[in-house]
Amino acid sequence: MTQSLIAAHALLPTGWARNVRLAWNDQGRLTHVEPDTEATPTTKGPLIPGTPNLHSHAFQRGIAGLTEFRGAEASDSFWSWRTLMYRFALRLDPAQLEAIALGLYVEMLEAGYTSVCEFHYVHHQGDGRPYADDAELAHALMRAAQRAGIGLTLLPVLYQTSGFGAKPPNEGQRRFIRSTDSMLRLLEKLKPLCDAQGARLGLAPHSLRAVPPDALREALAGLDAIDAGAPVHIHIAEQTQEVDDCIAWSGQRPVAWLLDHAPVDARWCLVHATHMDADEYRRAAASGAVAGLCPTTEANLGDGLFDLPAWRAADGVWGIGSDSHICVSAAEELLMLEYSQRLATRRRNVAAEPSQPNVATAMTLAAVQGGARASGRALGGLAVGQQADFSVLDAAHPALASLDAPTMLSSHVFASHRSNAIDAVWVAGRPRVQAGRHPLHDSATAGFVAARRHLLQEDKP
Ligand SMILES: [Zn+2]
Repeated sequence: MTQSLIAAHALLPTGWARNVRLAWNDQGRLTHVEPDTEATPTTKGPLIPGTPNLHSHAFQRGIAGLTEFRGAEASDSFWSWRTLMYRFALRLDPAQLEAIALGLYVEMLEAGYTSVCEFHYVHHQGDGRPYADDAELAHALMRAAQRAGIGLTLLPVLYQTSGFGAKPPNEGQRRFIRSTDSMLRLLEKLKPLCDAQGARLGLAPHSLRAVPPDALREALAGLDAIDAGAPVHIHIAEQTQEVDDCIAWSGQRPVAWLLDHAPVDARWCLVHATHMDADEYRRAAASGAVAGLCPTTEANLGDGLFDLPAWRAADGVWGIGSDSHICVSAAEELLMLEYSQRLATRRRNVAAEPSQPNVATAMTLAAVQGGARASGRALGGLAVGQQADFSVLDAAHPALASLDAPTMLSSHVFASHRSNAIDAVWVAGRPRVQAGRHPLHDSATAGFVAARRHLLQEDKP
């Protein structure tokens, strides 16, 4: 059965169009995208493409807001945050992970994300032994995504060492550690299950500090045997200490090392490629890899600043992720990215493009294009063959009312003050959010709060 609607205004990959008829098939793929129809519009507000969230560690939503105080270290940093995050990760059980992920995915849908790349690295029981079903926690994430109705790219994480030069893992990492063989068996097991759910399976070598060169090579060869087009995501150059350690180990900066030693191409997503030199910006952009930017998390952790103008000057592709979930809003990630660039460059509308001067429009299109590439799924916006994933803005929201469609999107990103200016969200041609609410909003929120309360109670001595 084909379904269709008519939007008075819709943001197509080529820009804004009027009176657009969208139709899609049973699989939720767009079969018609036809502007300038005569028919009467059936949606209340402008349609924008759904934003893929290219980087998520779902369980970290449970500690969002809990590490905002200065610890014992004189200079609080990423590494002290990580210590607290590990303590939480060590206690999580499968039901709690599913509850936290379900609450998070419902929030994501209500905030305009229509799919998520889950960088999944808690694999084992609290004591480090594998679960009887080795894919237990992956199943919890897959169930949460299916219940919420959000698209999924599942990226099991390969994690073997605690630092460059094959440093043995530490106690806090015992739930993450897998041999390369064990990872490939997990991928083989998950592949048919992901296919059945309409999810994409990929692989995430955690970082160069966590995966030695031989393991990286073997894991990539094994992945290719399962799915030669599968996405590959890696944390790279997030922290200056990581850059210094990589130079001490190899004589090269992390991105330069990766480009010289791995087949980096458009399948790859370089998450937090924050610290690159001019040559790395140029080479990484030319590889076709997506820069996976997580602006609010990178700000929260004090990582440093990505140079968006340098990346765009090299025609680099980028997308956004909510990573630690200190913020769950596609619009707010774009706001943070643009504002950080304005502060750094002392200019305005930095992310606008020559072909698209409206910065919110340019950023939305860029984040959809990059997010789709990183997800390895047909999520490239409102075009034939792509999935029918979109949001309808609330034209009655005070920040948007009576404006033209492109300005509504600008106001959604820059002026709606965190109150939700999204009326409806559709994934694969099915309405998942209506009147700003997901049908599971109340139950998923209650489940999330209960899981967090339980985990924090266990934190007390
Ligand atoms: Zn991450």
